[in-house]
Amino acid sequence: MTEPPARDPKIDNPFRVLPAAPVPAAAAPGRPVAPSDPAEALREEVERGVLFTTVGGMVNWAVNQSRANAIWPLGFGLACCAIEMMAIVGPRFDISRFGAEVFRASPRQADLMIVAGRVSIKMAPVLRQLYDQMPDPKWVISMGACASCGGVFNNYAILQGVDKIVPVDVYVPGCPPRPEALIHGIMKLQEKILVSPVEIGPLTLQPLPAPGAAKKAPKTPKKPARKSVGAA
Ligand code: SF4
Repeated sequence: MTEPPARDPKIDNPFRVLPAAPVPAAAAPGRPVAPSDPAEALREEVERGVLFTTVGGMVNWAVNQSRANAIWPLGFGLACCAIEMMAIVGPRFDISRFGAEVFRASPRQADLMIVAGRVSIKMAPVLRQLYDQMPDPKWVISMGACASCGGVFNNYAILQGVDKIVPVDVYVPGCPPRPEALIHGIMKLQEKILVSPVEIGPLTLQPLPAPGAAKKAPKTPKKPARKSVGAA
């Protein structure tokens, strides 16, 4: 059995904190102990109000938080699984707790495609076109046995897994999966989004003027000299 790849701590938690201080042996359980060392007291005071991070780590964290907590699914159902998908929006399951209740009618406004139901060979190019029309970044949840592998429909008319035409991020098993299972799939997708790297362009920093340097007025472009018409 191979070990899972080590996770990048900078992506998991962009905030770097100082290493934890050793707990005094005499500390009673549940009671805070005042640090005896002044350096230790200063370290604790700083930790309360200061976070260390990088611009890239902060942008990565903020963008991923906003993406993960405001997923807009495409209103797109193919078969019986779609009934369970619709149920997540109702008051009983209330997907708005996770910020994913805004089902969009247009793929151009959606970033999550929930493939809910079996995909027929005839429907496959339509599904792919809808996926292509969604703006980046976009994600796909394969909901139910039929979407994931064809389910009981092992025949020429049904696509044997939607991952043959679009990349799938999360598979939700079941026939049909309960709405709770789909919500669990959306939460797994949120976890995936939160640790994904965000590409930001290179930051261009303006050099600071030297102390005491006089501020130069910006150069105005010279006007081209007028040519006199008719001059000999
Ligand atoms: S997985 Fe079951 S419930 Fe979902 S589309 Fe297939 S047959 Fe219907």
